[in-house]
Amino acid sequence: MTGSFDAIVVGARCAGSPTAMLLARKGYKVLVVDRASFPSDTLSTHLVHPLGAAALSRWGLLDRLAATGCPPIHTYAFDFGPFTIAGAPGTRNAPVAYCPRRTVLDKLLVDAAAEAGAEVREGFTVEEIRVEDGRAVGIKGRSRDGSSIIERARVVVGADGLRSLVAEAVRPQRYDEKPPLCAGYYSYWSGLPTDGKFEVYIRDGRAFAAMPTHEGLTLIIAGWPYAEFEENKKDIEGNYLKTIELVPAFADRLRGARREVRFAGMAVPNYFRKPYGPGWALVGDAGYIRDFITGQGIMDAFHDAELCMDALDRTFAGTWSFEAAMSEYQRTRDARVKPMYDFTCQLATLEPPPPDMQQLFGAVHGNQKAMDDFARMNAGTISPAAFFAPANVDAIKAAA
Ligand SMILES: Cc1cc2nc3c(=O)[nH]c(=O)nc-3n(C[C@H](O)[C@H](O)[C@H](O)COP(=O)(O)OP(=O)(O)OC[C@H]3O[C@@H](n4cnc5c(N)ncnc54)[C@H](O)[C@@H]3O)c2cc1C
Repeated sequence: MTGSFDAIVVGARCAGSPTAMLLARKGYKVLVVDRASFPSDTLSTHLVHPLGAAALSRWGLLDRLAATGCPPIHTYAFDFGPFTIAGAPGTRNAPVAYCPRRTVLDKLLVDAAAEAGAEVREGFTVEEIRVEDGRAVGIKGRSRDGSSIIERARVVVGADGLRSLVAEAVRPQRYDEKPPLCAGYYSYWSGLPTDGKFEVYIRDGRAFAAMPTHEGLTLIIAGWPYAEFEENKKDIEGNYLKTIELVPAFADRLRGARREVRFAGMAVPNYFRKPYGPGWALVGDAGYIRDFITGQGIMDAFHDAELCMDALDRTFAGTWSFEAAMSEYQRTRDARVKPMYDFTCQLATLEPPPPDMQQLFGAVHGNQKAMDDFARMNAGTISPAAFFAPANVDAIKAAA
């Protein structure tokens, strides 16, 4: 044991490192641990929507990301077959998205946490969350050299992803649950320029998307309904290519490209967890997980880091009770993401949109302001609740 911390953060990727960094910047004593070492990859594609880029900018990290040669993405294009809706996903202050390799992004975040004064321990596996009198008080883990270590803190923050050990230990309430809906597999291709576009192709029961990333590579993810997950695992490459062949023009482009790595992919469940309790908090996927079809996870993790840090700061400073500050964190998180959660879960079924929505999309097509709003809605820049509000829908249809 090396003394007590204000916060121990378990997990050092998109949720954990920013949480540790922001707390450390406030002057708190923070330990952030991860069993991984950095740079390292993780199973995830990595579109960071404009408001995620805006968070990096607030933290002074966006220039560093841009300096890694990560190409900006200025247009989102949704090809439904009969027509394509293409628009700008961002705002005046945050106009573009990025798709940084996690090897680059996560390392940048870990370094920023260390620079802010957080103690970072890589190659450190947490084996147990220490609970005394119903309150989380620390962790027991194993460092890279095999030594067993106990550390104590006022708060243990679980930023440890989908299979969160912190959540498993404290057993928070789960709500608004939905089963896995879609399975997706991706790889990186060279020789397939996308010209700064995030391209999405939607067909009945299938979808795929292409986005430019580091080193001139293009990431392509293809998905099918979860009901086909097990069966399609038997031939991932065949099913991936069959999905792309549904769009012959894209398949032609792919023929001139080269796949650089093997396929990776999975399906994820959908649910919220209560993100706090005595001595503990959850951020990122540990607290709220949704299908990856709308690519919200990294941006959501960034927002959680800011909200959770604010709440803990109020608690540590004694201006708010832990319960008041953290329930506000939960309320704000849920209110922000809920309309996108519902939209994501609907999209992830890969079922054709209902007729009224098809009619709306037809009306959006060709109306540049509506197409920009559609791109912004998919990016999470504006809420689906605002986009699908009756007054907005009526205005789009009237203009068509
Ligand atoms: C196929 C797929 C595609 C996706 N595409 C996108 C996309 O395009 N855009 C987007 O925004 N999101 C996407 N997501 C979601 C995104 O990957 C997650 O939302 C995001 O990684 C969550 O970050 P996190 O920090 O909460 O968790 P994670 O990134 O999962 O990090 C958790 C960390 O905790 C560490 N850890 C876990 N347990 C322990 C332990 N016991 N001891 C020590 N360390 C531990 C792990 O080593 C890991 O480094 C995708 C997800 C999938 C599966």
